[in-house]
Amino acid sequence: PALPSTTLIGLGPMGRAMGRVLLEHDVPLTVFNRTPARGDALVAAGARRTTTVAEALDASDLVVLSLTDYAAMYDLLGDVTDHLAGKTLVNLSSDNPQETECAAVWAAEHGVRLLVGGVMVPEPLVGSEVAYAFYSGPRAALEEYDDVLRLIAAPRYVGEAHGLAQLHYQAQLDIFLTCLAGVLHGYQLVASAGVRAADFTAYVKDNVDSLSMYLEETARHLDADDHPGDAANLRMMGATADHVVRASEQAGLDATLPRAVQALYARGIAAGHGDQSWTALARVISGRRS
Ligand code: NDP
Repeated sequence: PALPSTTLIGLGPMGRAMGRVLLEHDVPLTVFNRTPARGDALVAAGARRTTTVAEALDASDLVVLSLTDYAAMYDLLGDVTDHLAGKTLVNLSSDNPQETECAAVWAAEHGVRLLVGGVMVPEPLVGSEVAYAFYSGPRAALEEYDDVLRLIAAPRYVGEAHGLAQLHYQAQLDIFLTCLAGVLHGYQLVASAGVRAADFTAYVKDNVDSLSMYLEETARHLDADDHPGDAANLRMMGATADHVVRASEQAGLDATLPRAVQALYARGIAAGHGDQSWTALARVISGRRS
């Protein structure tokens, strides 16, 4: 069966990648972007470009947004809300969960179904086998347009509350950014003694790969809120965190990152979790007292 006509608004790197993938699969595509020239390649590949955002909305029942943030959605659609009724708006822009919940209220006021998505791969991997996206909002909307949306990224539905997809997206980026900063910091420690990054990479790879081995046990500890510290307790890990800070200072590095980690361990020990697993730091991070 023919795929439904789709409107794509926002043609930054992500929007252009989505547009390319949709056209490759013969989705009838209408595009609009604040800066029209960004759509040239998509138009050459068969997309229809409109001169106004209202015409773009009128072209399809399914409207996909790929914008910098949710504020851009109001900038673009705020004056043409009378063209929104009955549409399904799939916002794949990233923002915070609260902003997303506010957008759900706004969407309901204008009679439009809002589906929130967070695409979890960088632009070159859009449409690839590894691409997936968290979705939240009305499940029926996702099911109705699943055949188009899964061309962009395999949908992972995480619940009805609109902020949930954004929360999952931000949690993944939280992990990603923190790990990447740690990787860079480690490289700088050895670089302070003249070690080339290329010569340290095999060890970093080993370290990063081994992280996934801890996850199942970590999840068991977190779900049970029980943190047996037989193997490696928080006090021991805290002493290691102290050593990393001192090594960083001795190497003349900016020690912001290891100091933040050291502070978490210090709080965990002060709260009486020293004999428990490092996973008891979750209590510090979550702000729970006990
Ligand atoms: P950009 O920030 O480059 O997207 C910019 C798009 O938003 C352009 O179409 C731009 O229009 C439009 N825009 C921004 N502000 C306004 C405004 N006030 N009014 C009208 N249009 C506006 O982001 P990307 O394309 O890289 O990504 C889009 C979303 O996807 C972002 O939320 C990003 O966090 C997320 N994402 C990005 C990934 C990536 O690899 N780049 C990976 C996964 C998610 P104009 O062209 O006129 O400036």
